[in-house]
Parts: sequence; structure tokens; C-alpha cells
Amino acid sequence: MRRWNGWGDTSIHMEVPPAGKGLLAEWVGEAAPVADIALPQYLEKVPESRLPEHPLCSADKKNRLDHAHGQSLPDWVAMRQGLLSTFPDVVAHPGGAEEVEEVLSFAEKNEALVIPYGGGTSVVGHLSVPKSDRPVISLSLERLNRLLSLDSANNLATFEAGVVGPDIEAQLRGHGYTLGHFPQSFEYSSLGGWVVTRSSGQQSMHYGRMDNLFAGGEMLTPTGRLTMPPLPASAAGPDLRQVVLGSEGRMGVITKVVCRVSALPQKDEFFGMFFPSFSHGMEAVREMARARLPLSMIRLSNAAETATNMALAGHETQMNLLKKYLSIRGLDRNEACMCLVGVIGRRSLAAQGKNAVLAIAKKRRGVYVGKPMGAAWEKKRFLAPYLRNSLWDAGYAVDTLETCVTWDKVAPVMQSVERAISGAMAREGEKAHVFTHLSHVYASGSSVYTTFIWRLADSPQKTLERWRAMKEAASAAIVEAGGTISHQHGVGEDHKPYLPAEKGELGMKLIRSLVKTADPDGRMNPGKLLD
Ligand SMILES: Cc1cc2nc3c(=O)[nH]c(=O)nc-3n(C[C@H](O)[C@H](O)[C@H](O)COP(=O)(O)OP(=O)(O)OC[C@H]3O[C@@H](n4cnc5c(N)ncnc54)[C@H](O)[C@@H]3O)c2cc1C
Repeated sequence: MRRWNGWGDTSIHMEVPPAGKGLLAEWVGEAAPVADIALPQYLEKVPESRLPEHPLCSADKKNRLDHAHGQSLPDWVAMRQGLLSTFPDVVAHPGGAEEVEEVLSFAEKNEALVIPYGGGTSVVGHLSVPKSDRPVISLSLERLNRLLSLDSANNLATFEAGVVGPDIEAQLRGHGYTLGHFPQSFEYSSLGGWVVTRSSGQQSMHYGRMDNLFAGGEMLTPTGRLTMPPLPASAAGPDLRQVVLGSEGRMGVITKVVCRVSALPQKDEFFGMFFPSFSHGMEAVREMARARLPLSMIRLSNAAETATNMALAGHETQMNLLKKYLSIRGLDRNEACMCLVGVIGRRSLAAQGKNAVLAIAKKRRGVYVGKPMGAAWEKKRFLAPYLRNSLWDAGYAVDTLETCVTWDKVAPVMQSVERAISGAMAREGEKAHVFTHLSHVYASGSSVYTTFIWRLADSPQKTLERWRAMKEAASAAIVEAGGTISHQHGVGEDHKPYLPAEKGELGMKLIRSLVKTADPDGRMNPGKLLD
């Protein structure tokens, strides 16, 4: 069963190991748990629905509470501490494209707003319910979860858009195929959600981002149906698929997605290495990214993230042995940076790729530590977010943000974002523990993904104020450096103020006019992406 006020399945727990708790106390101070609101008390806050009954819609209060938020930090404060004050009037559960159309007609008739809901894993405020005189429908895509066709002659699979990661892979793997899209939210996030937020999976280096995997499909808008044929390529004017990618529910509801799938690889393996410093690691990673090797992933942690991962891994004896080994190999344990690499493809090519990676690493004094570290990462690749539950229970909040910049800016941006976050907390008289990794590398640059942990305040408003101070300072540092405000999480509400800096005045006008053409009445997910 899914947690109603946290991340993931209620049967899965990831504890913060005692040594990790000790270090957190050292890094940001001793924390005390804060009180959660109980579910019955929360349900009392959900008002009666303003909409008439409809066979596809539920006015059940728990259902409406569950669809009133995503997984952003403000969402977390709201779900754990009772701050939500707006809820959808109903949650619609259509079972196919025709029923989605029926819900859109019901919305039109009742002048209701519509928020498409995929897996509810947005981390930037895509799902918050606006305060409005108009009733609000959360349109859940949960029942649109079928594989409609697998066209192996053309490596294309057509799915209903609400299908979530595990169900996509289960339906493809039986036929020897994979989509290869593995965001950390894989368990719950949906195909339609991935398209409209331009998601990027952990093995995007091989399979591509959602931008590449999305071949076509159908979107129902308040003005009509947009059909996008799955052409392998086209020079026929602007590509409308690129308009739908990143549309964040503002233009309509995607009901069907045609994706480019791949035959399962012969080899899909991860291994670990350490570099003496971030700059050694970054130089190596840059060379690997440019060498066009058969790699699925490169993930380079800075020294602070390396230390944090080791502290939170929970295998103290193994970690101590590893640290000893690294010292013997001449690496300073305070500077060492962990790097995980995935090789993929035909066995012989993957083996050549691995040799090439090791040769590049050797030039930068990289120390190979073998496959066990890669296998351990693979085993837990979707479990790290569960730590958020136990950190919160212990009185700590955690959030992440990311950008993407050209190689010349990677190290300066990493430093300025980390400094901005720490500085914002210092001004509050508090400390944040901040660390970063590069996980999506390209020939011309890299994503820069920063995590920050801090103590919950004694009031939810104060916790939010601290978060806002850090988020604003970090976002300003990103904008100043000319980085994108989102490499993979979209814009939602939280990044909206920073979008004009990236798109420019004319760019914003163009986006606005596209949204307006698809949805002249401003019905679809208002307030997200742009005002
Ligand atoms: C722990 C965690 C880890 C994450 N890791 C990653 C990661 O590695 N990579 C990554 O890219 N992202 C990651 N994310 C962010 C998130 O999973 C993505 O943004 C994801 O694409 C959202 O998909 P969803 O189905 O949950 O969409 P939702 O959260 O339900 O909705 C997001 C937006 O999409 C719209 N939408 C959803 N479905 C449709 C549809 N069918 N038609 C039209 N609009 C629709 C909604 O209206 C909303 O605006 C992570 C999030 C969490 C909580």
C-alpha cells in the first residue's frame, strides 16, 4: 500500500544507520522529531465537493487528499503537518481515452478546472490545487495502464499514458524488449508524466531522455484531439511532439504514447571507481562522455556526497575496509570522489567499453573498486527516496535541485549553488549539509544535481521559510550562471519565476500562445509552467 504522507510502499523502510545519525548531528545539529497530523484529522479539513455526481468521479475525501499534492518539499510539509487547504472537488478515474473525453466534457459543462494526475511524483509543485471559484477535477490516469501494441518490426510500443514504470517493463520484458527509462521515481511515475515533464532516467546515456523515447501518440485538449504520428524523423515544419514534451498538463491530457523501445541488452552492468578529487573525476568523466563508448550511465559524486553515501550506506565494516584500501592506493579519504559507470550492449562491445573507461580513469589516477559497488547501487537504485521518510521522522528535511550547464561551468555552478544554499541557511542561524553529483553527462556538458539536508523547524511555516530561502538562493545562482532551471524535473510552480530568464520574452509569448490555442478557457492545470 502506498504511504499517504510520505514516499513509497508502507512495507519498505530504509533506516538511517546510527553512524549516519551521528554525522548528521555533527553536520547540521541534533534534530527533534516534529508532530504529524493524523489522517482522520486531515480528512476533516476536506470540504464537501462542489460538483454534481458523475459515474467516473469520486468525491471520497481520502482520494481527494491523496490527489491534492505531489512530492515537492512544500508538498511534504503540507502532507506531514496539515498545511493543505485546497483539494480537488472530485477525482476522476477514466478507464480509456473515450472516458477521458467524457470527463473533459463534464469539466466544460461545470466550468471546472482539470489537473491531469499521472503518478503524483512531481517534485516542483505540478499538482497543487489552486484556490478558485471554479471547481477542480483531478484526472487520474491510473486506469490507462495497458500495452496497446508492440510493433517489433519498427521497435515501437504503444501504451496508454497512465502506465507506471514497473508495468511498462513487465509488459515489454516478456517480449524481449525494454523502454530503458528508469527515473528514481520509477515505481510510481507514469509514461504521460514523463513526457510532459521531459523526464530523464538513470540510463539515459544509452536509451536517451524521454525527449528521444517519445515517438508520438495522442493528446486530448479542450479544443480537440492532437495526433502525433511516430515518424522516425521529419523535416515538415516544427515538431509538435516537442511542443507536447514539457507541456505539464497545460495543453491537454495525453492518453496514448508511442515509444521507441530496444531489445534487451546482452550486457547491462555497473561498476565503481574512486578519483583523488572532483577535478580529476570530472576530467575523466568528460573524456568518457566524448568517447562515444557503449555506456548507460556515469555518475560522479563530489567529496561531500561520497562521504554522505558512505555514512548512510549502513555497512560500517565494509566502508572502513574500503576507506583503508583507498588510502593504501594514495587517495585522501576527505577528497576522494566516487564514480559509478554502467556499460551496456553486446557482450564484446561492453567489454571493450569497460576497458576504455578504465584506461581513461587510470590517466586521472582513478582506482577501480569492481562490480560489487555497482551491483549494490543497482539493487537499491529506487530505494534511496525511502530514506526521506526516516530522515523526516528523525527531524531532518531533505530536498534536491538540478541544472545542466556546459563543461566550463560545471565546477563553478556546483560551487556557487552549494555556497548559495549554505549561505541562505547561515543567515537563518542554521546549517545545511549540501552535496552534489553529476549523473547525466553529455559531450558538451553535464547535469549538476545537488541535495541538501537541514533540520525541521519548530513550525511548518518556518521550515518552509528556510526551504524557500535556500531554493531562491540556489535558483538565482543557476540563473546567473546561465544554467537551465530544470534538467529533469520540469517547471511546475516552484521553478516558474525562473523560466523567463531561460526562454526570453518572445519565447514566453510563444509558449503562452500555444497553451492558449489548446486551452482558450484556461481550464488545464492553471498556474503551472506559466501564469
Ligand atoms: C523520489 C523521486 C525521484 C525522482 N527521480 C526522478 C528522476 O530520476 N528523473 C526524472 O526525470 N524525474 C524524477 N522525479 C520527478 C518525477 O518523478 C517526474 O517529474 C515524473 O515525470 C512525474 O511523473 P508522474 O507520472 O508522477 O506525474 P505527476 O506528478 O502525476 O504529474 C506531473 C505533471 O504532469 C502532468 N501529467 C501527468 N500525466 C499526464 C498526462 N497523461 N497528460 C498530461 N499531463 C500529465 C500533471 O498534470 C503535472 O503537471 C523524481 C521524483 C521523486 C519523488
